[in-house]
Amino acid sequence: MTDVSDAGRGQGGDARSVELAERLAAVRKRISAAAESAGRADRPPALIVVTKFHPADDIRRLAALGIRDVGENRDQEAAAKALELADLALTWHFVGQLQTKKAKSVARYAATVHSVDRPQLVDALAKAVRHEMDSSGRGPLGCFIQVNLEDDGDAHRGGAAPADVALLAERIAGSEGLDLMGVMAVAPLGAPPEPAFEKLSGVSARLTETYPAATAISAGMSQDLEAAIGFGATHLRIGSDILGSRPAVG
Ligand SMILES: *Cc1c(COP(=O)(O)O)cnc(C)c1O
Repeated sequence: MTDVSDAGRGQGGDARSVELAERLAAVRKRISAAAESAGRADRPPALIVVTKFHPADDIRRLAALGIRDVGENRDQEAAAKALELADLALTWHFVGQLQTKKAKSVARYAATVHSVDRPQLVDALAKAVRHEMDSSGRGPLGCFIQVNLEDDGDAHRGGAAPADVALLAERIAGSEGLDLMGVMAVAPLGAPPEPAFEKLSGVSARLTETYPAATAISAGMSQDLEAAIGFGATHLRIGSDILGSRPAVG
């Protein structure tokens, strides 16, 4: 793959860096335009660049372009990249479905997990994070409760039912080592995103009645970032519009 050999030079200014800079600028422009039309130009959302399937050298290029927040959805890949890029001041966000047995690994590198969707995962993360706090001095883990917005309750993209958010929030808030950030969702496939993001904003409003600090809303991907910003997203998770289509995995 040409990407990888180019990257070997490790310098900004290669063709791939130029491409990433252009794509990033275009996405940033969309974000400011959407924030402006939502009347929140003064409170733009944070941008997390989802780098899954793309090589660590692309993350190095993005870091040179000022990106600090990166997202990954598979522990094995994320752990390897975090290790390889340990010299950079990056903040790692875990955004994919997470098995409890991976909690230990994720606690070593992730600042936040956006996909907390069941009590056993809360407990596994809390235990793993407390261990890391003692052994390596890491800080608390930011937790977003992933909400399933499918009308039929189909859990294929993960997430807790809206009715289960309150109990999960209580469990996170009561766990030493975990910080309750707010909610996260992926818009349903094949349907307009607006109704889903509106629903998420309602779930968020109810959550903040009990937990006033848990104001974060992680929503908005390449295809639907404008809609997400319109409904109050505070954290965008953008992959393909910045990095290009994901290389096929073999
Ligand atoms: C891959 C992924 C993204 C980024 O999606 P794009 O459509 O590539 O912008 C965001 N959130 C999650 C949970 C993902 O898995």
